[in-house]
Amino acid sequence: MRYQRHIILPQIGLEGQEKLKNSKVLIVGAGGLGSAVSYYLTASGVGHIGIVDPDTVEISNLQRQILHNEERIGMPKAISAMISLKKLNSEVEVLPYPDEINYKNAPDIIKLYDLVVACPDNFSTRLILNDICLKLLKPLVMGAVAKFEGHVFDIIPPYGPCYRCIFNEAKDDIGQEGILSPVAGVIGALQAVESIKLLLKIGKPIHERMIIYDALKGFFREVKFVKNPACEICQKNED
Ligand SMILES: [Zn+2]
Repeated sequence: MRYQRHIILPQIGLEGQEKLKNSKVLIVGAGGLGSAVSYYLTASGVGHIGIVDPDTVEISNLQRQILHNEERIGMPKAISAMISLKKLNSEVEVLPYPDEINYKNAPDIIKLYDLVVACPDNFSTRLILNDICLKLLKPLVMGAVAKFEGHVFDIIPPYGPCYRCIFNEAKDDIGQEGILSPVAGVIGALQAVESIKLLLKIGKPIHERMIIYDALKGFFREVKFVKNPACEICQKNED
């Protein structure tokens, strides 16, 4: 009954819904993007969800991080996320990681999952996820937002470009920039869509291309890109 509207879709059906139930997705970041991704994947019946975030809930998060609420200020975000997600769908197993992900612990965590969704607020975590997912051949759904814009794309190792192929120069972290609240919801929802497509192997992934959303112009555009021959990490993984 719960997943009736999924099951009547021929691309999903009972078989696809069972597949989602047996799927394991790691969401890194329980902020604005992570809120949308985790709510939609939990509602969709992805059976096992891990959620990583080292921070605690602050009042300034509530403008866009809809997993959390006023009663949870001071609580680790990973725990607050788990409580919200279990209330939405008690059948889903939610594993909170209230720690920072780094090169040391990432392989042991990521190897337990089928797919990783990148929702952090900093550049260095994206690089860690990229490098470890490339090594472990795990699909990685990238998303980022700032001000009135956001983008989303899939990394599917060993095929196509990685994050470093595109963003090979270190950028400043975007955490302190302004962000229009629902823009995080738009991009997070797109990341949830891509996750389900990749888990079920349906449709055409946002691969070797990026979808960029400009909220002020009310416009989505697509940018295509390929593997960068100068990317050190891609070269290393091919050796
Ligand atoms: Zn690369």
